[in-house]
Amino acid sequence: MRIAIVSDVHANLAALEAVLRHAEAAGPIDGIWCLGDTVGYGPQPSECVARLREAGATAVAGNHDRAATGQMDVEDFNADAATAALWTHDHLAEDDTAYLDGLPEVAYASPETGLNAGARGRQHDPSLKAVASGAEFTLVHGTLRWPLWEYLYSYEAARAHLERQETPFSLVGHTHVPTLVAEGAEYEHGCEMYYLEDGQSVPLPDDRKIVLNPGGVGQPRDGDPRAAYAHYDTDARAVTLHRVGYDITATQVLMEAAGLPRRLIDRLSVGR
Ligand code: ZN
Repeated sequence: MRIAIVSDVHANLAALEAVLRHAEAAGPIDGIWCLGDTVGYGPQPSECVARLREAGATAVAGNHDRAATGQMDVEDFNADAATAALWTHDHLAEDDTAYLDGLPEVAYASPETGLNAGARGRQHDPSLKAVASGAEFTLVHGTLRWPLWEYLYSYEAARAHLERQETPFSLVGHTHVPTLVAEGAEYEHGCEMYYLEDGQSVPLPDDRKIVLNPGGVGQPRDGDPRAAYAHYDTDARAVTLHRVGYDITATQVLMEAAGLPRRLIDRLSVGR
């Protein structure tokens, strides 16, 4: 089976379509796992929600999804993000809002069973341990300590996340930077973090927990403007990172027409 792993689509339909085309070009896709922030920043929130729903994606919520539906206050957002969140709020259909509000903060998934269960609480719910025990992957936007908000950038955050991880592997988004975190007592910090390059494959280990971030589809932040995603091949037992060029200008033109902040439009060209 082949699972496409996407995160931080951010209402950038051109990027999402390019990524899914790229994934399907290599063979049929059996499922999509989405790590949150499907909307916010970009010009086509409803279209992106529809595309993922049609495909039956297993998804968790991101901070921008919650802000767009009004469930979360935008006071913690910077000015441009808040402007985009309010714009998104005004351009979501009722049905989109219900879908986004219904997304869990944490989900467990295995390729064979798809979505097993979700937790809504801000903190990871330990009562779901039994549910998690059968699953291979935990899906969360930020970290298992603070699912919607925490960036998994530091060793401290990585350790806090790994301590709470009950499945062998986990998938996170939020930073928009493709990353591998491997747990190991031999590492100075108890784990090590690696940047993932285009085409790099990560074999799933049997002897340690790992965390993978597939990067951002709709707003990359590692200096490479190409959309990022990963795919999990169960036969190869490996997750591979991909970068895909897409029509950035098409998205920027739509953002301009929508009156979205200039800085958000420009950053797509540079991947920052
Ligand atoms: Zn994001």
